[in-house]
Amino acid sequence: MKYIGAHVSAAGGVENAPIRAHEIGATAFALFTKNQRQWVAKPLTDKSIDAFKTNCEKYGYGVNQILPHDSYLINLGHPDLDKRQKSLDAFIDELERCQQLGINRLNFHPGSHLREISEEQCMDYIAESINFALDQTQGVIAVLENTAGQGSNLGYKHEQLAYIIDKVEDKSRIGVCIDTCHAYAAGYDLKNDYQGVMADFESVVGFEYLKGMHLNDSKAKLGQKLDRHHSLGEGEIGWPMFKQLMEDKRIDNIPMTLETINPDIWSEEIKQLQAWLPK
Ligand SMILES: [Zn+2]
Ligand SMILES: [Zn+2]
Repeated sequence: MKYIGAHVSAAGGVENAPIRAHEIGATAFALFTKNQRQWVAKPLTDKSIDAFKTNCEKYGYGVNQILPHDSYLINLGHPDLDKRQKSLDAFIDELERCQQLGINRLNFHPGSHLREISEEQCMDYIAESINFALDQTQGVIAVLENTAGQGSNLGYKHEQLAYIIDKVEDKSRIGVCIDTCHAYAAGYDLKNDYQGVMADFESVVGFEYLKGMHLNDSKAKLGQKLDRHHSLGEGEIGWPMFKQLMEDKRIDNIPMTLETINPDIWSEEIKQLQAWLPK
């Protein structure tokens, strides 16, 4: 079973996200459980938590169909100890919010070295932060998102994701999310060599760790290392890759969500993807 949706708005409360997802015909959704551009947020109210759970049940969204995204401010590999601690505290808060909402996974960007420390040192910090956060929380899988490799962001190579996973103690609570735009911009030619890219992912990381996907076309060219999403079929990747992805039997039972630039056509993009699902 493939679950396909979009990163919907949680404006007015997290409980609105499943309603908005349902309105566009989505069978999966992503959301921010707090303002993604602020460090501190008010705790979720019991009313909001109950309504979220009720709406998810009403519209049929189970745990394999929801993948929240954490705040863009968090950098678990920050070279500075105080700033890394601030990120870690915010990350733990995000994991706790998921726990409260009955969500079993949280998507985040691994971290950036800010050109102050080596990639390896940064990845060691990231793994250390994850281990600490998992120890403080329960039941939520930390899902590393691959990046385009813009700036000093790590996670643009399968080897980097594998390096971090290797250092995480509880393997049952670490996973990855592949963003097709980021992968392409990082140099993985999904357009011309879908099978080759996936074979590399399988041998370096492994499909057992794949806990979600972001379905985006790319404005940036192959290997350009820029994070510029585009609507499906309108960017450098094009529709045929998404058809191959829909037909890929190895990728199942995970939330696959659009982060494409025009929310007005999300329902059409979802419809097109669903039309390619094996009957
Ligand atoms: Zn992301
Ligand atoms: Zn993404």
